Amino acid sequence: PLILGIETSCDETSAAVVKGGRQILSNVVSSQVEIHQQFGGVVPEVASRRHVENITCVIEQALREADVQLADLSAIAVTYGPGLVGALLVGVTAAKSIAYAKSIPLLGVHHIAGHIYANFLTEGITPPLVALVVSGGHTELVYMKEHGTFEFLGRTRDDAAGEAYDKVARSMGLPYPGGPAIDRLAHEGTPGTIVLPRAWLEEGSMDFSFSGLKSAVLNLLHNAEQRGQTLNPADIAEAFQAAVIDVLVEKTVLAVRKTNVKHVVVAGGVAANRGLRKRMEERAAEEGFVAVFPPLPLCTDNAAMIAAAAYPFYKKGWFHDLDLNAYASLPLIKWEEGPFQELG
Ligand code: ATP
Ligand code: MG
Ligand code: FE
Repeated sequence: PLILGIETSCDETSAAVVKGGRQILSNVVSSQVEIHQQFGGVVPEVASRRHVENITCVIEQALREADVQLADLSAIAVTYGPGLVGALLVGVTAAKSIAYAKSIPLLGVHHIAGHIYANFLTEGITPPLVALVVSGGHTELVYMKEHGTFEFLGRTRDDAAGEAYDKVARSMGLPYPGGPAIDRLAHEGTPGTIVLPRAWLEEGSMDFSFSGLKSAVLNLLHNAEQRGQTLNPADIAEAFQAAVIDVLVEKTVLAVRKTNVKHVVVAGGVAANRGLRKRMEERAAEEGFVAVFPPLPLCTDNAAMIAAAAYPFYKKGWFHDLDLNAYASLPLIKWEEGPFQELG
């Protein structure tokens, strides 16, 4: 089966054709990052307008690169939340229009389920597993007992990991998005020069908190400025990244011990982090589990992951109605609890 995926939840307009839930025939991503860079973050109104301008071209290109006609498609999968509602609506409307015009089944996909399923595109893994979701808006430890079930073991109580990266980068005068810039700088810093606090929270807690760490960096910068000192930005980046990674990895280890799974998948933009990948792999080897990361281009927003996440739904024959809406916030729930209809 061929599934057309569409993703417009934030600042990437993307369309992809994925065969059998695994084989990427095309994955076109039109990024707006240069436009939003001048504002230091995503401007929702600008993002929506850009999606409108891009969506038709991006879908056409995805079909062309895959050498597929609309009539060949088995289903259309689209991100329907969470995200910027105006941005989401562009993708949802495009998906519904094609589904209606060509009588193709429609599937709404949760954006974070998409990030998790990016790992299924390249690795032959199956649940049960633990997913560490670390994106621009989410930081969660999820136990996936089987396809389509998501049980929360922990989540952030304030900022998301990616958000912390972006905010700290901004305070250091680095460009948006901050994650890649800090990751690069961190490798030039000297470990131990600066030490920042780790938010472990209560004993055994798998929740996260990054706002204290962010404030610690702000205080450090502020105090240095008042004293007329200059700190090496690479040392700050190294200290910040070490504090983030320590907590992310050790709480993932707790989740593995608790659930006894053999696989951990890391999902979302921060999964691209070189330091995180290295440290997680080291700990996985020590603890006896396998850590899986998506290939770099599949860590950040793309439509192939949306098509991949739709595949298990498709196989069950569960689809959405054409009254599918877009939601700024949307819980990651079991399929059974979703607003599906079964096609006969
Ligand atoms: P969400 O998926 O929660 O809705 P989003 O779609 O905006 O949010 P993603 O596209 O998954 O987020 O990821 C973008 C985030 O990933 C940004 O915060 C960015 O700074 C971060 N990021 C990207 N590359 C790296 C890296 N190498 N190290 C750390 N963070 C990174
Ligand atoms: Mg993005
Ligand atoms: Fe995302």
